[in-house]
Amino acid sequence: MGVFDSVGNVIAGMKKVSDIAQKLRDVELQGVIIDLSLGIIALKEEMAKLREENLHLQGKINEMEKKTDIRSKLVLRNSAYYLTEPVQGYSQGPFCMTCMDEDGLLMSVWNKNGFRHCGRCINKRFK
Ligand SMILES: [Zn+2]
Repeated sequence: MGVFDSVGNVIAGMKKVSDIAQKLRDVELQGVIIDLSLGIIALKEEMAKLREENLHLQGKINEMEKKTDIRSKLVLRNSAYYLTEPVQGYSQGPFCMTCMDEDGLLMSVWNKNGFRHCGRCINKRFK
């Protein structure tokens, strides 16, 4: 049973207690029950926000683990990185040293007039 199911059970229990308070015609008790119910609803909303934030953070962790995993498979040769083993979705290299070192990104580079060029670094330079 998840935490949201537990909160759902508490809300259902509060409804039963509220029904009993109405039968007893106890206005003070009904007021306390309403306050408790509003508190539980606020808690449920806060839990939903925390769950969303948790999912967001888990996504970031997965992304960082993937980057760390890729870094462990890189070797530096002639001022460019190369993969030491295949990684799905990537060539073997060469990859931009600046993009990997500064931002952890695997960006392909190409040779032109004896120099390596990275499309991302060129775009960063002219922004
Ligand atoms: Zn670059």
